[in-house]
Amino acid sequence: PLTLEVQATQLAGIPPAGVVLVLHDISELKRLEGLRQQFVANVSHELKTPLSSIKAYTETLLNGALNDHEHVRHFLTRIDDQSTRLHELILDLLSIARIESGQTTLEFSNLPIHKVVHACIHDYEERARAGGVTLINQVTDTSLHVRAEEEGLLQILNNLVDNAIKYTPEGGTVTIGCHTEGDKAVIEVSDTGSGIDPEHHDRLFERFYRVDKARSRELGGTGLGLAIVKHLCNAMQGSISVESSPGQGSTFAVRLRLADSHIPQTSS
Ligand code: ADP
Repeated sequence: PLTLEVQATQLAGIPPAGVVLVLHDISELKRLEGLRQQFVANVSHELKTPLSSIKAYTETLLNGALNDHEHVRHFLTRIDDQSTRLHELILDLLSIARIESGQTTLEFSNLPIHKVVHACIHDYEERARAGGVTLINQVTDTSLHVRAEEEGLLQILNNLVDNAIKYTPEGGTVTIGCHTEGDKAVIEVSDTGSGIDPEHHDRLFERFYRVDKARSRELGGTGLGLAIVKHLCNAMQGSISVESSPGQGSTFAVRLRLADSHIPQTSS
């Protein structure tokens, strides 16, 4: 629905009956203000939850549980977990703020895809092994290059692989592959995990949107990973898409511009 702001001005020199009506469409402004308020509410809630736990555990310890070694270890572990959660949330919020401010300019270069994929596999092979998930690298073409920022592309892949491992049960696989499509490279992260109902696909990339809030929190997500991925893809003039359905696993595809020398020349 359209929200209109009406300004009525009586112009000097025009008879009293003459009134100029200026109509401003402020629907977009209202929508943005709503999103901003919702974001602040979400951030506050996400910060409050781990802080409340930390406070509760600390108080219990101070109120006497200090002498019981078993309890001390248990509570300190929980405090440590919640602190890690707060730390990750703050890092993700800083990432979002940095990209959204548009103040940082990304340093583009001709980047070998296999090198970034290799770095991502290196970051996650231990986590995959611990979760009983097999991580497969199908990016064998060492000549493919994209125009992108190395840090940014690594952050995109790390977020996608992190999710893929998180939402894939023991015994499953996560595969990173790559192919070209015209002047684009398509880097795909596929998993054999829980899958996502198509009704959620449009909203997955919104900040704090989760299909199953309780489950994602339990698995340690901040709810910001895919929003960051989308921002980074846009900032690198690329795009992100998802194909998934429940029980069928998920494939997230990142499309980035190939480095000039890799774009197929069309004969004129
Ligand atoms: P989170 O930190 O909660 O994982 P993200 O922004 O990374 O937040 O992802 C948003 C939501 O998308 C997740 O909460 C989860 O419901 C869903 N999701 C993301 N990746 C996958 C995946 N590979 N398999 C199943 N669900 C996923």
